[in-house]
Amino acid sequence: MEIPGLIPQKDGSWALSIELPEGKIGAEVLKVLASLAEGGAFIHPTTAQKIMVLGLRKEEALKALERLEKAGARIRKSGKSLQPRTCVGLPFCKLALQETFPLAQAIYEAFPREELPHKFKIGVSGCPACCSWANTLDLGFVGVRDGFKVYLGGKGGYKPRLGILVGKIGDLSEALEVTRRVLDLFKEKGAKKRRFAKIVENLSLEEIQQYLGLS
Ligand code: SF4
Repeated sequence: MEIPGLIPQKDGSWALSIELPEGKIGAEVLKVLASLAEGGAFIHPTTAQKIMVLGLRKEEALKALERLEKAGARIRKSGKSLQPRTCVGLPFCKLALQETFPLAQAIYEAFPREELPHKFKIGVSGCPACCSWANTLDLGFVGVRDGFKVYLGGKGGYKPRLGILVGKIGDLSEALEVTRRVLDLFKEKGAKKRRFAKIVENLSLEEIQQYLGLS
């Protein structure tokens, strides 16, 4: 039976996944994680900027879920939320041109439950070094001096590809508007189990820009 927030594992154990949209873990959540680790749980920071708690029995997982939520953790309860990956950006990184956490957080809050044809990954980087791989994800925002460049259609997997540069946005509200239009494009033209990259491949740059209101 499916239990929202719990993920059954191949070995019969249960896991849960904490989302970190602003790339930050609070002290209260860390205390609960430390106590779970002391009790034998396997704490795994994932490549998608989440923390998985693995190796729990079902009752332990249910208790851990309750404790973590009480401590303020955001627990992934469906596969439909869009949590961007982000680097640290301004004011921390000496190479950064933009802040990253506010944009990543705003996207996470604005799109909590999207019904999309297939998985969709978003990245935010504070400069073109792209430490969060923003230029190789379905949608990437890459910080430049006067805003963020927008990349579309990147992916990893068996046939990896870089995203293509489709335009630039100046502020957070424009970023949210572009994200909305990109997701609508995916819903309109996407097919089940087919990555967004396929749509980008089949459209001209002008068509994409027109759709997104970018130039
Ligand atoms: S992408 Fe740029 S701003 Fe972000 S961590 Fe890397 S070097 Fe710093």
